[in-house]
Amino acid sequence: QTAWLNGEWQPLEAARVSPLDRGFLFGDGVYEVIPVYERRVFAFKPHLQRLKHSLEATGIPNPHTDEEWEALCNSLVERHPWTDQYLYIQVTRGVQPKRDHLPQNCLVPTVFAYTSELKPMDEAVLQRGVRCITTQDIRWQRCDIKAITLLANVMMKLEAQRAGADDAILIRNGMVSEGTASNVMIVEGQSLVTPPLDHHLLGGITRQILLNCAPAIGLLPVEEPISIQRLYQADEIWLTSSTKEALPVVELDERSVGDGTPGPVWQAMRSHYQQEKQRLVQQ
Ligand code: PLP
Repeated sequence: QTAWLNGEWQPLEAARVSPLDRGFLFGDGVYEVIPVYERRVFAFKPHLQRLKHSLEATGIPNPHTDEEWEALCNSLVERHPWTDQYLYIQVTRGVQPKRDHLPQNCLVPTVFAYTSELKPMDEAVLQRGVRCITTQDIRWQRCDIKAITLLANVMMKLEAQRAGADDAILIRNGMVSEGTASNVMIVEGQSLVTPPLDHHLLGGITRQILLNCAPAIGLLPVEEPISIQRLYQADEIWLTSSTKEALPVVELDERSVGDGTPGPVWQAMRSHYQQEKQRLVQQ
């Protein structure tokens, strides 16, 4: 595997970053994960837009033009054999000799990117669905930024594991925000409901694509706050992300969701989403 680090290609295992990098010391950085299907970068524009939002919100200078970012993504794909991949891009504020919360003005951002094979979700998991707990969203107030600072997400994922579940759905002030590494959508009759964008959740690219897809399978897309009570009563619950696509949740806090199997709306969306992938990689 070849990685890109500050303008140079090197073997992934050989790539080295200074321990004085602010990403290492402070978690002072942002990232993106972009799927590649059939060797084409998927939904590049919204991913780039979100990276630029994260950089702007944190005041980390954007080290590349849009064209350079696109060329970097394409080179990553070309240098690796896999048909489907997921690109990881990370930008930290850079290396700072003196440890200080306040960043120095002259820092040069550290850019690191590599790619991995994207394997389809395990069919057995999709057929069975996943089990979730709900837990308090212990993160900060700027979850719209795709920050590398993921300690709270790691802790909540571990909590799910300790409870014998696959993942956690995060609750803030009695309302659903998202998953530990995904957005949350529910099916209520003919509606596909997901919380509206704000500072408490990440603007998922998959979330937006699924909302756009909803009418094609007879669903009304709705962006509305979801209370925990409403979550418990949903016909179906999905976790959505670039690498998971839509993953059906069949058990929540040890109660069945619907009849406890992946629902019919999820099945319909699953096949529609595969077509949509074909269409969106061409763009
Ligand atoms: N929310 C969080 C906290 C995430 O980490 C992710 C992605 O991993 C998402 C939502 C889904 O975003 P996307 O659909 O762009 O992958």
